[in-house]
Amino acid sequence: MAIRVPRVIALKDFDRLPRQDVKFSRHNVYVRDGSRCQYCGHKFSSAELSLDHVIPLSRGGSSNWENVVCCCLGCNVKKGNRTPQEAQMKLIQPPKKPRWHPVGHFGSNKFHPAWRNFLDLAYWNTELR
Ligand SMILES: [Zn+2]
Repeated sequence: MAIRVPRVIALKDFDRLPRQDVKFSRHNVYVRDGSRCQYCGHKFSSAELSLDHVIPLSRGGSSNWENVVCCCLGCNVKKGNRTPQEAQMKLIQPPKKPRWHPVGHFGSNKFHPAWRNFLDLAYWNTELR
């Protein structure tokens, strides 16, 4: 049996507005860092990356956008439970909370052409704050 799947579903009513800030999640950290180790700068598959606490949790660091970065396994082992300064490893960029919303972070070439009219309408009709 074949079932046709719609490319667009019009939402006419909703309970609340979607979340406006960027959720702090593993996926979004990988997206923010471009799947690139923030110490050696090389790009890896997600299976070859882990998350590193720049200031280790055991040293008073916390789990947030400003203290968690993508890190390859080699750099993670090398850094261990040290700060970047102690390990003499430099971050390629300071980690910070992204300003984009993950829902809108696909890049325009990944939208199906049928979505274009709806996205344009949403862009022009969204209430500005
Ligand atoms: Zn690395």
